[in-house]
Amino acid sequence: MPKWIFVTGGVLSGLGKGLVSASISKLLQLREQEVVPIKCDGYLNVDPGTMNPHEHGEVFVLEDGTEVDMDFGHYERFLGIETKGDWNLTSGKIFQNVIERERKGEYLGKTVQMVPHVTDEIKNSWKESAEEEDTDIVIIEIGGTVGDMENQFYLEAARQMRSELPEEDTYLIHTTLVPYLETTGEQKTKPTQHSVRDLREVGLEPDMIVGRSKDLLEESVQEKIALFCDVDQREVVSDPNVDTVYRLPILFDEQNADKMISEKLELPDRTSGLGEWKARVENLASESIASVAIFGKYTAMNDSYVSIEEALKHASAELGGSVKIDYRDTEDLQLENIDDYDGIIIPGGFGSRGVEGKMEVIRYCRENNIPILGLCYGMQLIVIEYLRSCKGMDAVSEEFENGEEHKVIAELPGQKDIEEMGGTMRLGAYEAEVEGKVKRIYGSERVVERHRHRYEVNPEYHDKLQNGGMRISGFSTENKDLAEYLEKRDHPFFIGTQAHPEFTSSFEEPNPLYLEFVEQISK
Ligand code: GLN
Repeated sequence: MPKWIFVTGGVLSGLGKGLVSASISKLLQLREQEVVPIKCDGYLNVDPGTMNPHEHGEVFVLEDGTEVDMDFGHYERFLGIETKGDWNLTSGKIFQNVIERERKGEYLGKTVQMVPHVTDEIKNSWKESAEEEDTDIVIIEIGGTVGDMENQFYLEAARQMRSELPEEDTYLIHTTLVPYLETTGEQKTKPTQHSVRDLREVGLEPDMIVGRSKDLLEESVQEKIALFCDVDQREVVSDPNVDTVYRLPILFDEQNADKMISEKLELPDRTSGLGEWKARVENLASESIASVAIFGKYTAMNDSYVSIEEALKHASAELGGSVKIDYRDTEDLQLENIDDYDGIIIPGGFGSRGVEGKMEVIRYCRENNIPILGLCYGMQLIVIEYLRSCKGMDAVSEEFENGEEHKVIAELPGQKDIEEMGGTMRLGAYEAEVEGKVKRIYGSERVVERHRHRYEVNPEYHDKLQNGGMRISGFSTENKDLAEYLEKRDHPFFIGTQAHPEFTSSFEEPNPLYLEFVEQISK
């Protein structure tokens, strides 16, 4: 049987519970423990794929094609592992399963209730993931705030697990907010006290309290929280503002968080330490080696591009410095400003707003030898811009809903079949056979990256695209009609990919395409 760590949150949402879980998981991984992170969300959407990134941040895509929320990105980037769709529970998913079982008569005529049927469904799902992975530790992050209606049954499932299992098999970390009151110059503990009271009301006692605050927690504040919340003073851990999220494991290690968890869970006392990790963090805290502009749509909510931003940072940390990232909206575009940047990224996107501006940026980069990386939608726009400017074609994407022009980006018949089967997009990991610069960058003829798109480069236009300075340098292994990579010859870096290579980048192992891009622009 594995050990179970529950992470709950109090006071407010958005305290960074996912980062706390990821950081603690990292420290336990360094203690040679295999960790499976599970996230439980209260919302009724079956998955976050349909949620507006404006509201919910980026949709992260897993190897198996499941669409999950940003926290899975943190887990993968910190731990360097591939997480699975089954590790994300949503209330929608749980209820769907329970209702399906009820319809099939699996409850044998019983009244189906929140307790025990919904809570059993949750516990079984946790246990199945643990068994399947044969893991040492399962860390379960319960989304939302204690006291919310939405996550009550997850907390109840956690309570049942805690009472069923021996004391040394479970651990509970409660994260709260410790606000700083300017007028009196004090850190305030009352919200933490209240949220621990809410936690107790549902039958849970914390083993550790992580206090999110502007600065480190003062000793007197730790003492007070310890007294009111029934933990040791050393079990009140500071989670202050940091220059980079990758510093959190270092801060928690300095406060012996992993050591205390390890002791309570009776894990072997060994760790390989954070040496290499620290060196990378210091690189990120040092001078900028390159500046990048990301020309997107949701520029008010930078969370929509978090994986891209992180992948750039992973690359720069490996290369010995930091990277300066600007979010630019194409609606206030002034082309000459582009020269201020070492490199440009055209990220993934949907719909037609702002595309003309993005194509102007692509044209400028193509003509002026400015390094540019086009991701998914970005690659599709590279295709359209090239066929328009260099082949004089009236090129569009089917997504723009135009009239009778050349639909050089289109939904292919095979894709329409997927739609009939209930899916709507090409999702998850697919292999491509690559050549040219792309092959050199990856150091391999076969490359697997994750996808999330509906439209493709229309194969009828592949020839037109290739008989000039442009080259399709990667096709899908399973379907030779699908262009996966595109590059321009005689350009320092002009590459587009139908994939999202940012989803496979981790702090200790940057994605090769991002690494090459940052290396190129840092020269
Ligand atoms: N909207 C485009 C498509 O569906 C691109 C999607 C994306 O960039 N992720 O193909």
